[in-house]
Parts: sequence; structure tokens; C-alpha cells
Amino acid sequence: MQDQPKSYTLKELGLSPKNLDKHAVSITERLTEAGFQAYLVGGCVRDLLLGMRPKDFDVSTNAEPEQIEALFRNCRLIGRRFRLAHIHFGRHVIEVATFRGPHVKHDKNTSHAHKDGRLLRDNVYGTLEEDAWRRDFTVNALYLDAQKLTVIDYVGGIEDHQNRLLRLMGDPEQRYKEDPVRLLRAVRFKAKLGFNYSPETEAPMKAMAPLLKDIPSARLYDEILKLLLNTKASDVFDGLRQYNLFSALFPQTELCIKKADSDQPLLLIKQAMENTEKRLKNNQHVTPYFLLAAILWEPVRRLTEQNRATFNSDVQAINASAGEIIAHQVNQIAIPRRITTPMREVWSLQPRFHKQIGVRCLRFLEHPRFRAAYDFMLLRAQYGEVDPKIADWWTHIQTLDPAEQKLMTRPNQFKHKRKARKKTTTNIPPAE
Ligand code: ATP
Ligand code: MG
Repeated sequence: MQDQPKSYTLKELGLSPKNLDKHAVSITERLTEAGFQAYLVGGCVRDLLLGMRPKDFDVSTNAEPEQIEALFRNCRLIGRRFRLAHIHFGRHVIEVATFRGPHVKHDKNTSHAHKDGRLLRDNVYGTLEEDAWRRDFTVNALYLDAQKLTVIDYVGGIEDHQNRLLRLMGDPEQRYKEDPVRLLRAVRFKAKLGFNYSPETEAPMKAMAPLLKDIPSARLYDEILKLLLNTKASDVFDGLRQYNLFSALFPQTELCIKKADSDQPLLLIKQAMENTEKRLKNNQHVTPYFLLAAILWEPVRRLTEQNRATFNSDVQAINASAGEIIAHQVNQIAIPRRITTPMREVWSLQPRFHKQIGVRCLRFLEHPRFRAAYDFMLLRAQYGEVDPKIADWWTHIQTLDPAEQKLMTRPNQFKHKRKARKKTTTNIPPAE
């Protein structure tokens, strides 16, 4: 440990106080006036140094949660094991955390480590310096003093930032064992910031990857969203595969990619990620279910092929395979049902693209999940799974008015008339 931290002025770091969140600054002001230490910390300082707009501004202080609560009317305490203060400004929330200390400490609220080194609890208050050292990467351990307009650096984070290095503090192997999610954070930050790993940070990554299997599946789901729903998703995907992290997260998919005799399953996933990136850059809505449907499609497709003979229809075969693949996957990553339901729908709608005759086609165009299923079919067509003529037919029909669409799906004049007559007397069931 360094005794004296380095201190830099915002000016010498090229930071402007104008870019600081005014609510976060006002919180540090109030805490400081009350005699506490308070800083903007973590991702926001790191991102500001890169000229990026931070996603959120976090505050770190030596005031304990009840002391914070006493100072702010708009404060709610959350978390049972480690209490955090949320300070609300309308819909905007600033998280204020009390400095945490090292986990190996023998006092009344000692944190607990698992026998393999994994940290199960992390609930010991500490000093500013201790708080800095228990963070993950040096560039995430910088403290901005919004009153003095300085950045305090105990860990060499500014130097690493200038050299564009991601360096895990302490003994990296030990730090990954304490919390294997740091492996995923390493890949995500490398992609997001365009930094390199320091050699000691990178060296144990592959060997540590299997530790992810022991992380609670709900936490992994949260991490997966951060990994995949961003404008660097395809770099993240490559990084995850490079360090065997992808196979720890999606073992069925990795196995299929390895077994495949072409690159197509891999390229389909990469294309889905690139499409997500494009949508995000255009401020379009993105949902995790589409990407997850793409990631798990190859295992579902393969199993469907194997099982096809035992089912009466393609849809039944897909549904059964989807059920099996998802059941395995959720052991590892707790994908919630509100996400698996549309994933399954997108998969089980695929056979409907192969029928281009009859009123069912027209109803399919109105299906609430048509658009997602169509985009998914286009992906499959791009990688040789669907005849491009079929893809073009569905692209074309969407450009027509209803009368022309009807003509396009008509088998022949006679059948068409019969169907039209029937329609006047029968209630057509909904497409679902
Ligand atoms: P972003 O919000 O852009 O994803 P961030 O660095 O703010 O990046 P958060 O998950 O919001 O990431 O965490 C805030 C800070 O908490 C981090 O900058 C880091 O200092 C610390 N931190 C978060 N997760 C861990 C972890 N697993 N181990 C150690 N420190 C962590
Ligand atoms: Mg953050």
C-alpha cells in the first residue's frame, strides 16, 4: 500500500466541473458541510477522464447509512447485508455508499470468505484508503473531490488510465477467486474503454473461468445484460470466448460452435450482436430476448433435428427442444420467464415462414411477435438456413396493401373463393 495518495487537480486532468452531475455534487457538499468525507467515485470518474458521459454518478463517504439518512429527506436505505443509501431526485437516483474495508478483519461484523476464497459477504466499514483497495481495477478506484476539484489516487489509477491499462489490484488470482464476476467485468471494461489488460491481470483469466459456475444464477443474469446490451457487444463476445468465459456461461452453445462443421452458428450470433449495436447507436429499442434467442438457437436447432421424427410437427419438435435447452441454461443463468417466453415464441414461429399460402400467412403478419420472428428468420437466411427466396417473399409482402397481400397468398382462384365464403360464416380463431 502507498501511504500518501497522489492528488491531481481537475484542470491538470483536463476535466471540467461542468460535466459533474449537479445532484451528486450537492450530496457531497452537504456531507462535507456536516463534517464527513464524500467523493464521486468509480465508473463516473473513469468515464469522465475518457470524455465519455457516465451512466451514473456514485458517491462514497465515511458517513454511515443512518447518518446519511439523517441528512437527506429524499433518502432511502436499501440492502440488508451492506446497507446503501439511495438519494432520490425525482426519477434520478444517486447511490451513496459508506467506505468499505478489507474483508479479512477480525471485528464484530467481519465479512466471510468461502473455503475456495470466494467472498460471500462484504460488509465491513473502512477508511477511504481501504475502500480504494477493495475495488476491482485501479481505474475504478479514483475519488473525485467536487469541492476541492481534485482527484485522489491511492492505487496508481491515473497512470494506468493514461497508459490505457486495466489492472486488477492485489494478487489477481486471489481477487478473481474472491469474486469471479471480476472476470466478466474485465472483458466488459476492456471492450468498453478500449484498454489493454496488464499482463498479471490477464494471465490467470482462462484458468479461472470455471469459477463462474459457482456464481448465483440471478447475479449472472444481471451481468449478462450488461455484457450484451451495449455498443461493444461483439467485442465482448470475442473476449468472453477468448478466455473460455463464454463456455462457462453458455456451455451448450459453445459445444455446438465447436462441433459445427462451418462458422455459420458463430457468425449468426455475431451478426445478432452487431445488429444490437446498430440499434443502440440509432437509439432504437433493444431487448435481451432476441439476442438470447440467437445465442441459444444452435443448440435448439440441433436438438430439434435429432428429435424431429418423434413429433408430429416442426413446431412441436422446436417447443420440446426449446424447453430442454432452456431448462439446462437457467441452471447457469437465471433468464426470467418474461424473457424465455418470447425467446420460445420467436423460435417456434420459424416454421410458419415456410408456408406462403392461405389466410394463416396474413394472420401471421399481424402476430405481435411477427417482427421479431421475421428479423430472426432474416438472420437465419443470411447464414444459409433459410432459402433467400423465402426471405425475399416475406420482405416483399410487408410492403403491399391488404388486397395485394391477399392475392399473394392465394393458392388459386377456386380455393380462394371457397375460403372467402367460409370466412363469412366461421369465426376465425386468433393467430395465437
Ligand atoms: P459501469 O457503471 O459503467 O458499468 P462501474 O465501474 O461504475 O461501471 P459498477 O458496477 O457501477 O461499475 O460499480 C461501481 C464501482 O464499484 C466500480 O467502479 C468498482 O470500483 C466497484 N466494484 C463494482 N463491482 C466490483 C467487484 N465485483 N469487485 C470490486 N469492486 C467492484
Ligand atoms: Mg456504475
